[in-house]
Amino acid sequence: MMKINFTELKRGYEKYKKEYDKAAIEALESGWYILGKKVEEFENNFSNFVGAKHCVGVNSGLDALILAVRSLNIGRGDEVIVPANTYIATVLGITENDATPIFVEPDEYYNIDANKIEEKITDRTKAIMVVHLYGQAANMKRIKEIADKHNLYLIEDCAQSHGAKFEGKTTGTYGDIGCFSFYPTKNLGAFGDAGAIVTDNVEVAEKIKMLRNYGSQKKYHNKIEGINSRIDEIQASLLNVKLKHYNELRKQREKIANRYLSEITNPRVELPKARKGSEHVWHLFEIRTAERDKLQAYLRNNGIGTQIHYPIPPHLSEAYEYLGYKKGDFPITEKLADTLLSLPIYDGMKDEEIDYVIKIINEYES
Ligand SMILES: *Cc1c(COP(=O)(O)O)cnc(C)c1O
Repeated sequence: MMKINFTELKRGYEKYKKEYDKAAIEALESGWYILGKKVEEFENNFSNFVGAKHCVGVNSGLDALILAVRSLNIGRGDEVIVPANTYIATVLGITENDATPIFVEPDEYYNIDANKIEEKITDRTKAIMVVHLYGQAANMKRIKEIADKHNLYLIEDCAQSHGAKFEGKTTGTYGDIGCFSFYPTKNLGAFGDAGAIVTDNVEVAEKIKMLRNYGSQKKYHNKIEGINSRIDEIQASLLNVKLKHYNELRKQREKIANRYLSEITNPRVELPKARKGSEHVWHLFEIRTAERDKLQAYLRNNGIGTQIHYPIPPHLSEAYEYLGYKKGDFPITEKLADTLLSLPIYDGMKDEEIDYVIKIINEYES
């Protein structure tokens, strides 16, 4: 029996080990460890990669979301529209600013259903927070039209969508601010915590630069109440290396996804659908089945690790009890939470491992 873990981060390191080691040592020897030349270099590289004018590195994807909302002066009494099917960090970006999340059900691609947004807009609505979940862009054309029509800010959570496009335009450049995470398991993962925002708006970029560093541009001159959400030189150096190889890493995920799509033929398993005009970057490969827990146990017994993204939707999580939602409020999202299963898809996955996952799934009988 083969043993296939859900992720294998070390293989990603080993692939470019020499370059990573050199970059880390260079950062150590430079004698400057936070917000220095390497960070600036990465911010330039990443804004070029995305196609945005400015990039500001921060400490995590969550901080990128929190500071994005804060920089637009969204707070208590304001409402932000957000997908019900997402990771809780998206929602925390709103509630950490004391604003209220307004959930919208997903479409057949598991992203926010653009046709259900307008019915949720009120006098208090300030922004739409879109997530490009699992690596596939949401319906950005329609969502941008809605945001413009109602004069709402548009924030994109791109934590899972580095380089994903919709109709040729990169995710993170449709809205006012794009928020990225470089958590180690993400498509562009660091070797520790890191995140960034991208924007074309120079005022927003300058404000987030202040917010990430105690509210100051000039040391000890604090213009606004900020936080500490800086990015360090070692992570920035390592990200510069990984970004250089990103196309290759992306092709690898694509190859695995295409094999799963064409070779998994078990009728008990529903495969993910591709949105027309969207270039998927396959952060996660989601299958669906009514017998999810049984299939997960079967795969585990055959040595294959899987995960569930996500077993409890934010509106039903204990943390958000105070929002007053109950089971049944978002039935499509809740159904996804009970039926989705993520298969292994990662940097350094070997052909025989992909073969094995496909074979074992195709042999599954209920
Ligand atoms: C990972 C993730 C985040 C948070 O990123 P961190 O770097 O872990 O703070 C936010 N939103 C989504 C959709 C994510 O997957």
